[in-house]
Amino acid sequence: MKLKPLLVMGALALPALALAGPAPMKAGPVPPPAIQAQARDILTELVGINSTHNIGTAQAAKAVAARLKAAGFPDADVQILTPAEHPTQSNVVVRLRGKGLDKPILYLCHLDVVEAKPEDWSLPPFKLTEKDGYFYGRGSIDMKDEDTAVLTSLIRLKQEGFVPDRDIIVVFTSDEEGGDANGVDWLMKNHRPAVDAEFAINAEDGGGLIQNGARLGYGVQTSEKTYVTFQIETTSPGGHSSHPEPNNPIYRLARGLVKLEALQFPLKMNATTRGFFKAQSARQEGQLRADMLAVSKEDADPAAVARLSADPRWNPQLRTTCVATMAQAGHAENALPQRAAATIQCRMIPGDTQADIEMQIQDALGDTGIAITVVWPAEESGESVPQPVMMKRVTGVVNEMWPGVEIYPTMDAGASDALYSRAADIPTFGLSGMFGDVDDNRAHGKDERVSIQAFYEDVEFNYRLMKSLSRAE
Ligand SMILES: [Zn+2]
Repeated sequence: MKLKPLLVMGALALPALALAGPAPMKAGPVPPPAIQAQARDILTELVGINSTHNIGTAQAAKAVAARLKAAGFPDADVQILTPAEHPTQSNVVVRLRGKGLDKPILYLCHLDVVEAKPEDWSLPPFKLTEKDGYFYGRGSIDMKDEDTAVLTSLIRLKQEGFVPDRDIIVVFTSDEEGGDANGVDWLMKNHRPAVDAEFAINAEDGGGLIQNGARLGYGVQTSEKTYVTFQIETTSPGGHSSHPEPNNPIYRLARGLVKLEALQFPLKMNATTRGFFKAQSARQEGQLRADMLAVSKEDADPAAVARLSADPRWNPQLRTTCVATMAQAGHAENALPQRAAATIQCRMIPGDTQADIEMQIQDALGDTGIAITVVWPAEESGESVPQPVMMKRVTGVVNEMWPGVEIYPTMDAGASDALYSRAADIPTFGLSGMFGDVDDNRAHGKDERVSIQAFYEDVEFNYRLMKSLSRAE
């Protein structure tokens, strides 16, 4: 998946951000021509391999492993690991050995892509096409571009004879976009020693945003909201519509839904959302600016919280939210309904639990005759608190590449592979080197594309960041 930070809050958020004059766009540094040629060659190969769920990642994994071995990685450090029950869903685990001065760092890269039907595209989806300053093809922005940037950087470091202070592990995995063989989850549960690390980098999350030709900022994704889906349901024996009864499930459910609409979960801030609001406040004016600053501090003024909460752009950053998304009721036009049910989807802020949310919903309904059941359980995942040393290094590389760009932590609406590494107690940070245009995000869509300049900057960024993060503290 690919949700750019802020973009998940809707385009609404962005015009306001653009007000206070974002950093003017200047091209960032790109790698030397030979490295660019290699990156382009790898991207061509990866986009050319269909790795949708139905086909699987086995062939793409083989291609990645072959590149690594050709670059001098010993066979023992390039493993292809495939679950026995999913023989087409392969994962590559590669290790660039370091001096062992610190615990390894881990990069997460998924190899699978979303389906693309040639008849829906104006260009062949599984072939890299260069046109008008873009590379087109399925996966060009999600995330074979970043797979290529990470793979090229690893090969570049190896060929330079660079020995990091700590091991750098990279996993290229299956089923991030869907399917039941999620590579990160499976590796965490079945091959923990091979992927154990002090922290992980999700190479497709976080990253930079561009709008109207200007850089808006750089987000470090430290957390994501996770979702849980409930059903609420009420029943009665029913009967003939000519004889209405007081216990009509449709009215009863409707009364519950009205109460649920008014349910506001308690304010729950964390280091990420405080940092986010603090950074955003600099781009705002007047009351909104003051309110954002207020919530970025402990013990925020309730009036400021109330004003921000009333704005759908900011409310999801302040708390867990639940919303009715589907409803079904009745079985015939001339019968009293026997059943009325609604689907309630919740996006939980890190730290909230499914049990607690369920209890608050039940309380809000105020009717024990409305049963609540879990349709899709939550995969609870906490916040990875930004570590000062890591943030300093990220800031260093971002400033070097794109001077003047502001850096802030972000919480996404979820969910990515970072969910699984965070759940396995490996703090995970979304640190893509890609600057994406907020008005041109074609991830999962038709004619997916990546700006060639942004792609090469991403390749260079990953090389510099990998070097910097692998230094012992
Ligand atoms: Zn993705």
